Formats: sequence, structure tokens, C-alpha cells
Amino acid sequence: MAKGTLYIISAPSGAGKSSLIQALFKTQPAYDMQVSISHTTREKRPGEVEGEHYYFVSVDEFKQLIKQDAFLEYAEVFGNYYGTSRPRIERVLSQGIDVFLDIDWQGARQIREKMPNSRSIFILPPSKDELARRLQGRGQDSDEIIAKRMDKAVQEISHYAEYNYLIINDDFDLALHDLKAIIRTERLLLERQKQRNEALISKLLAD
Ligand code: 5GP
Repeated sequence: MAKGTLYIISAPSGAGKSSLIQALFKTQPAYDMQVSISHTTREKRPGEVEGEHYYFVSVDEFKQLIKQDAFLEYAEVFGNYYGTSRPRIERVLSQGIDVFLDIDWQGARQIREKMPNSRSIFILPPSKDELARRLQGRGQDSDEIIAKRMDKAVQEISHYAEYNYLIINDDFDLALHDLKAIIRTERLLLERQKQRNEALISKLLAD
């Protein structure tokens, strides 16, 4: 059985990462790829669903999971803990299904070290002005809060060069096309194609 590919996707808030991942999953068959659901200690936001967006846990529960070696990676991101559960990812990958991790640069570093065959993608906004516009939200936040969001975004962006692929999300459809192209290219690599098409290749080569 072919093994699935682990994709890491990182971006500053405001680059459109969640929308791109959602759009990707709308057009791809569910049996082909899955998105990993992280554990987090941050507060649930309105509209977020337990087990769909995150598993929401207390700091004590999170620390217990760290002790049990339950995480493939974990990090503190802007004051809250976030972690990727190990057992589920390993099971899904072994079934030949691709898994997508929406994680920050610290998690990406840990995964790259543990799983050198993983692929990482960074998404950038088209300009600083556009990023600022997207971070302004509904225009109800103070300049100070917006400036803080901008700072966090620039911190994340400073790690872009650690990734295998870079997508600029200016035109959304084009960025989605780029994301799909990366996945398609990875699937067409000789080693993966050999694994997936073993039976066909041996038949073609048989006398
Ligand atoms: P948010 O709280 O806005 O959902 O996510 C904040 C940041 O945490 C995002 O950059 C997101 O990619 C990152 N993040 C979400 N889940 C994980 C995780 O399991 N591990 C790590 N390292 N980062 C995560």
C-alpha cells in the first residue's frame, strides 16, 4: 500500500490559508486527503465546533498529553498551546491518504525533522497594504490591536524560506490552482507513482 504524503501549510493570519484549505477540500474526494485537527488550549471562538476546528483542552490536559508523547509536534503560539496528535496521523498516512497540517513555523520545523518526506507550503499575502486591510477585520478593533496582529504576521512571514513551496495569494483562484498543482506534482513523482501503480507496471513488463 502506498503511503500518504504529509503536507504542512503555514501562513500569517490574513494570508487566506483557511479559505484555501477549505476550497481545496471542497473539490477533492474526502478519501484522498484529510486535514488534521489539532489540540489547543485557546478559547473557543464563536462558531467553532469541538472536534471539527480543534479539540479544545485545558493547559493541564495539554501537559498530560505532552507527557504521554501524544504529539507529533506542539508549540506555544502567541500565548496558547497547539499540538498535532501523533496516532491518528500515522494511521491515516499508512492508509495511503494525504494529511494536511495547518500549523505554525515552529511546528513545521519539528515535523520536517521527524518526517523528512513531508512537504511544506508557505502562503504569502500580495502586499503589506493588503495584509493590513485583511487584518483590520470588521473595522471594530483599535489601532493597537491591529498593529499587534501585523507584528505577529511579520514574525510568521520571516520564516518563509524554510518551506519547500511558496504561494502568493493575490488572486484566490490562481492560488488555489497553485496549491492543487503542488499536490498533483507530488503525486506524479516517480517513487509515488511506482508504489501506486505496482500492479499495472508489472503487467506491462510481463512477457
Ligand atoms: P488560530 O488560533 O488562529 O486558530 O491559530 C493560530 C496559529 O496556530 C496559526 O498559525 C495556526 O497555523 C497555528 N496552529 C494551529 N494548530 C497548530 C498545531 O497543532 N501546531 C502548531 N505548531 N501550530 C498550530
